[in-house]
Amino acid sequence: MSDLTDGREPPLEASPFDLRVDLGKAVPEVDVRAALKSGDIGFLHSFTTGSAVDGPGIRLVAWTTSCMFRCQFCHNPDTWILSNGIPVTLERAIEELRKYVNGLKVMGGGFTLSGGEPLMQNRFAVRLFEGAKRMGAHTAIETNGVYGDRLTDQELATIDLVILDMKGFTPEQHKRVTGADNMKVLEFGRRLAELKRPMWLRYVLVPGLTDVPDEMKKVAAFAASLGVVERAEVLPFHQMGRFKWEKLGLDYRMAKTEPPSQDMVAGAVEIFRSAGLQAY
Ligand code: SF4
Repeated sequence: MSDLTDGREPPLEASPFDLRVDLGKAVPEVDVRAALKSGDIGFLHSFTTGSAVDGPGIRLVAWTTSCMFRCQFCHNPDTWILSNGIPVTLERAIEELRKYVNGLKVMGGGFTLSGGEPLMQNRFAVRLFEGAKRMGAHTAIETNGVYGDRLTDQELATIDLVILDMKGFTPEQHKRVTGADNMKVLEFGRRLAELKRPMWLRYVLVPGLTDVPDEMKKVAAFAASLGVVERAEVLPFHQMGRFKWEKLGLDYRMAKTEPPSQDMVAGAVEIFRSAGLQAY
């Protein structure tokens, strides 16, 4: 399939903190549906090289667009909408990875698919991971887990590491933070445990929203019970995405929220450690 952008798109390589909108808007709806079904084309916010925080070693990260959650603290709300992303053929995405794959291997890293929610484009994700594995790259996905059930066990085996973002444990808290239920998130975590797939856990610490000790204790206990979580990361909330909410005309309820203090972060990390996890 030809590249639908005819080479007129902005550069693929960019910071996830760049605001990107409407880059795939010209793609007809019928082609979008076909792309989602086949995975021939993905919609990407950007590629970032040299990340040291999105999996082990140094990573090439592809940021997808589209997400089913509306987290109050989201720092990339421009990735919520599929058509904000650049339409990129699978071949081109694999070529992009090929440019870096040897260097990534030398640096003990690999390829990470993040978003947005990458499994909103699960066919593209699977085919990209298959391509990455053919090149011998370490593969990771950062996901909220809701659409984990759209991958077969065999497809999951092409992902070396699942970094599961958990936003809360009780359905009430999860809904408050993301606008959605978390039953399928927990189901996906349990399935990964049954399959003995390596996992990392991520928890964004937002003062006044997710800094609820009881919620953190429950998330930590759940993660520890899975027996496959190699690492838990507490990510301090920051305001780097604030301008995106403003530019997009969205109601940003975190406008007055300060990043957590070092003591707050240390306290949260301690909760995860107390559950028996390697937490940072
Ligand atoms: S799951 Fe991630 S991309 Fe989606 S709204 Fe939440 S923080 Fe943003």
